[in-house]
Amino acid sequence: MSVTARRIFSKIPFTRMFVAFMAVVFTLMSGIMPRIDTQKEFKNIIIMIGDGMGENHLLKAKQERGISLAMETMPIRGQSVTSSVVRSTDSAAGATALACGVRTVINGVGVYPEDVYQVCKRPMNLTELAQSLGKSTGIVTSDDNTGATPACFSAHTDHRGNRDEIAAQQAVSNIDLIWSYKSSHTDVDKVQANGYTVVTNKRELNALESGSKSFGQFTGDIWRTEDTIASNMPTLSELTDKAIDMLDDDEDGFFLMIEGAHIDKFSHSNKSENMTEAVEAFDDAVKEALDFAKKDGETLIIVTADHETGGIKLSGDEYVFTKTSHSTANVPLFVYGTDQFITNGKKVMNKQIAQFMAMSMGDEVKEFPIKVKIQY
Ligand SMILES: [Zn+2]
Repeated sequence: MSVTARRIFSKIPFTRMFVAFMAVVFTLMSGIMPRIDTQKEFKNIIIMIGDGMGENHLLKAKQERGISLAMETMPIRGQSVTSSVVRSTDSAAGATALACGVRTVINGVGVYPEDVYQVCKRPMNLTELAQSLGKSTGIVTSDDNTGATPACFSAHTDHRGNRDEIAAQQAVSNIDLIWSYKSSHTDVDKVQANGYTVVTNKRELNALESGSKSFGQFTGDIWRTEDTIASNMPTLSELTDKAIDMLDDDEDGFFLMIEGAHIDKFSHSNKSENMTEAVEAFDDAVKEALDFAKKDGETLIIVTADHETGGIKLSGDEYVFTKTSHSTANVPLFVYGTDQFITNGKKVMNKQIAQFMAMSMGDEVKEFPIKVKIQY
């Protein structure tokens, strides 16, 4: 460094130099982000989220249950980097990234991280974007419908604990189907008053006809596989099949989010057997969606997770939980329908998955996230 250069640098405060350095780093990083301006348009888009599902959850499930996984037959496999603005993420911030293309604060549901935006602007979620393009929409989860993941695809609020508010927003969301475990925060009268048929078991589910709006409030363990589920309850795979069947009647196509919520729940409690059963049930649902996409030819499927839970590691020749909380481990990302987003082995940031799905919905989508002014 020359004497003059050294003199100039000594006058610049450290923080400024650090900011300039980070700007260069981010510019370089943006160069490796996938280009998504010439991408293929899909009629139907399905995102399937295994909540808490890391790479080792798949290995553990395969080893302990002696199964192979349909998701691993998908042609493209990469990874998603899930950390939130500050640290390892929760399901709210993780799903906000996947639903809105925005990295937000822990507990934030479909909101920007900056307080100034939270009071006047919110990011549009993929469900709302699909609705604006005339597509049918659906949300299916083994969780309560006010859980963080379904909430981020159907509501906006600064804290995932505002469950009454999330349920109230869902009741007027006009999303064609919202199917989940029964929620004590959902006012069934209000849901029905907004034109929804409420179903609580498999028989009622199967009686639903296309073109009707429905709210599933199932009373049993819909996270289970067909071997252990109660006979009057649908599996996640059956819910997926029925949801696609109903939404596919729309000639403008559909957007569908499916969540296997219990992979996370049983990872928090370190219950290996239940966790691997939840992985298998989720994978059965993936198989159902893949079978449809292969026949349909106009469907994009993304399978991923919002974050890893349980810090599963190989110990000897067994996969074991090492914590009861979330970790910062990257999570698997599978793509069916195109190799334009990622190629095998590539990593993306979680929010780029939402950006990619948004752009895949149609030429008219020029940017994502989309800021929406909040009406009072
Ligand atoms: Zn969790």
